[in-house]
Amino acid sequence: MNTATASIRFFNTLTRRKEKFTPIDEGKVRMYTCGPTVYDYAHIGNYRAFLFEDLLKRWLEHRGFKVTHVMNLTDVDDKTIKGSQKQQIPLKQFTAHYTKAFFEDITALNIKPADYYPKATSHIPEMIALIKTLIKKGYAYKSQDGSIYYAINKFKNYGKLSHIKVAELKAGARVKTDEYTKEEAQDFALWKAWTPEDGNVFWETELGKGRPGWHIECSAMSMRHLGETFDIHCGGIDNMFPHHENEIAQSEAATGKKFVNYWLHNEHLLVEGRKMAKKFGNFYTLRDLLKRGYDPIVIRYLLLSTHYRAQFNFTFEGLDVARAAVERLRNFVRRLQDAEGKGSGGKVAELLRGVQVGFGEAMDDDLNVSVALAVLFDFMREVNALLDASVLSRSEADEVCALMKRFDRVLGVIGEVEREEALSKEAEELIEKREEARKAKDWATADAIRVRLRAMGVILEDTPQGVRWRLEKKA
Ligand SMILES: [Zn+2]
Repeated sequence: MNTATASIRFFNTLTRRKEKFTPIDEGKVRMYTCGPTVYDYAHIGNYRAFLFEDLLKRWLEHRGFKVTHVMNLTDVDDKTIKGSQKQQIPLKQFTAHYTKAFFEDITALNIKPADYYPKATSHIPEMIALIKTLIKKGYAYKSQDGSIYYAINKFKNYGKLSHIKVAELKAGARVKTDEYTKEEAQDFALWKAWTPEDGNVFWETELGKGRPGWHIECSAMSMRHLGETFDIHCGGIDNMFPHHENEIAQSEAATGKKFVNYWLHNEHLLVEGRKMAKKFGNFYTLRDLLKRGYDPIVIRYLLLSTHYRAQFNFTFEGLDVARAAVERLRNFVRRLQDAEGKGSGGKVAELLRGVQVGFGEAMDDDLNVSVALAVLFDFMREVNALLDASVLSRSEADEVCALMKRFDRVLGVIGEVEREEALSKEAEELIEKREEARKAKDWATADAIRVRLRAMGVILEDTPQGVRWRLEKKA
């Protein structure tokens, strides 16, 4: 399938409707996803967003689009400054630690890297230029303390993404912190004049001594790397207001052009039925789960197997179910490697067509991955029945394998599957006999059996946990 025949539809937060996806440049997608604020280890709610975005990108690529993906790293804002001061280390050293941890995490989760990871601290000149344009055009003003604010009543479309009613706002009320709620919507800081609380974090610029606000960072970096108008902007639903609303206000006021065509937001993640919060004792970073011994690929599967616009309830039972699902996928591919049946008489070809259409239609429909996975597991059940009946031929199995590989480039959970080592019935019985002999302290028989097994290519190892075996590697 290629981009000409595919018809992908996304739910666009901007219009609150599902719309056919048409990129600005044919066959190409320019996409920006808000990245981590590198002030702590990212939690599983963050990774739900990053995994949804990974799935989105992989699906677009599967459909033949060339995707340019930019994800920023917020390495200066209220949180990072506070964090570095708490640890009493320079901001740069503080954020470098969490940036490194972030890249380790996404590697573990098999998230495909973005094309660019711009850092806020490397784009101060772009932010200054943007703020200067906003001042010149009358959308921004300097307050008495030297900070520069965006005048939201000057931008007539303010609220178009989050549907906030600006008429109810108090004129001239200001908010300087990066994060605030809809109820507090007011003029927000583009540039924050230095205060003693900022310590040694500041830039001496034409706008005065200070630092950027969080929202201007994403406007400046996205337009720098993707142009003034681009195709897709993603993020968690909690970023819709004020962050994304403010990005639109800043960018569109400066350029006079539409900033983004499709806004995609993923829903919240709950843990054990409630909002994840340290005070509830249900707050997990990815590292917390890895420490408990969970396979990151199982976590990946769990977090991406629910539709991104549905609230997702994370539970440890869910992780067990996900582990079983990943095992089923891997076992299926493993089993295919041994197929030597007489052929299904066209049945497999029909199943292959069906699963491609079903999986594709579900994913094209606003990335409906839960339906796509259901279609895939139905297909596997049917093929397994053919395997049970020994009718799947070698070449049919190869075709199924190739398709599973293509699907896995989207899902990223199967990976390379080795043919499972299996003992012959005879070897199994011999190992059992040897165990009996050992229990009876009949060492001569035990040794004789070991030698026999060795000749069969089975190597035994007696460990404190019992006997282990492995097959001799054939050269
Ligand atoms: Zn952002």
